[in-house]
Amino acid sequence: MNRSRRAMMGGVGAGLALAGMGGGPAFAAPRKIGYAIVGLGSYATRQIMPNFAGCDQAKLVALVSGTPAKLAQYGDQYGIPATHRYSYADFDRIRDNPDIDAVYVVLPNSLHAEYVIRAAQAGKHVMCEKPMAVSVAECEAMIAACRKAGRKLMIGYRSRFEPYNRLAIDLARGGHVGPTRLITAEHGFSAQPNQWRLDKPLSGGGSLMDIGIYSLNAARYLTGEEPAEVSAVESTDRTDPRFRTVEDRINFMLRFPSGIIANCISSYSSGHNGYRVIGTQGWIDMEPATPYSGQSMTIRKDGVTAPRTLPVPAKNQFAGQLDHLAECIMTGATPIVSGEEGLADLRVIEAIYRSAATGRSVRLHA
Ligand code: NAD
Repeated sequence: MNRSRRAMMGGVGAGLALAGMGGGPAFAAPRKIGYAIVGLGSYATRQIMPNFAGCDQAKLVALVSGTPAKLAQYGDQYGIPATHRYSYADFDRIRDNPDIDAVYVVLPNSLHAEYVIRAAQAGKHVMCEKPMAVSVAECEAMIAACRKAGRKLMIGYRSRFEPYNRLAIDLARGGHVGPTRLITAEHGFSAQPNQWRLDKPLSGGGSLMDIGIYSLNAARYLTGEEPAEVSAVESTDRTDPRFRTVEDRINFMLRFPSGIIANCISSYSSGHNGYRVIGTQGWIDMEPATPYSGQSMTIRKDGVTAPRTLPVPAKNQFAGQLDHLAECIMTGATPIVSGEEGLADLRVIEAIYRSAATGRSVRLHA
């Protein structure tokens, strides 16, 4: 095996079959990359697991949960054998399962760092849900662990695999409505009580960590820049039992090095899902912008306003995301939403919280 081939294979579990090893053809098509899902909650079971069916390069091979009944239910539903069902206590035994190439961490936010690091130490590539973790320090430790293990790390920013958002990025960065002057981005919903999202030790923060991060991430991907300055204002009714430990609303403003300003909304008590890129010749509007399906785009250019409609893609954003990490594992490429991308968001999130707490803008250094 030559060096580049070995480098490529180095990322894939030992179970990757090469038909060439017994005198047959030198290379056969590699098998699909096998994922273990960690945490069988709402997002994993309703959005991620069903969408392996639309993947070309990824498949579901193992489950990790603290609830035996869920392991039985979903294990049976997806044909996962008992040998590939793990409890959290068992988790490190994934090291001995060559069918598992990658681990997808879909746990409450403050558990991401621990499971990403343990997965890397078990020799597995990792997909981790947003927010990557609850602090910059945790993100850095996760990146270091994956680098040390020689394994890929990708963050579940699914909108980067969704055609309208991809088009918005191309149009905004390409100056379709003139150079961008302003971005407005708003994300929010009314949080139901009694859930881990409202418990700071598990969530790391309130609406910003959970849903406002979409406003932040969009401002960053629509500009392709890192903010130079951040200011934020928080408004939370601490008598509302939902908001004893986490914030409700936090609005933030970002100034980018090119001069673009982004005005962003994050809320746990009102519904929002959209962004608008305003250039010197018009605007690109997305509402809704980042739902699971049903994105809608309208463009105003040189005084003419018109909807922009794209064909339904063969592969949805969930399957696109799962296949992207699989492709990166097979080719050695770096995911377009790597650990560094998750870290960049957490750097700004920490600055937003700092600004809201001090009442002062915070300067960031690239
Ligand atoms: P959820 O509450 O539905 O699921 C969380 C799972 O973690 C449950 O199965 C729960 O049993 C398990 N768990 C393990 N240890 C736990 C503990 N100590 N406390 C509480 N639960 C524990 O949550 P979810 O909506 O599936 O969110 C999981 C992750 O996915 C979060 O990081 C969230 O931000 C992310 N998410 C991403 C998207 C997206 O569109 N990318 C959407 C929803 C959620």
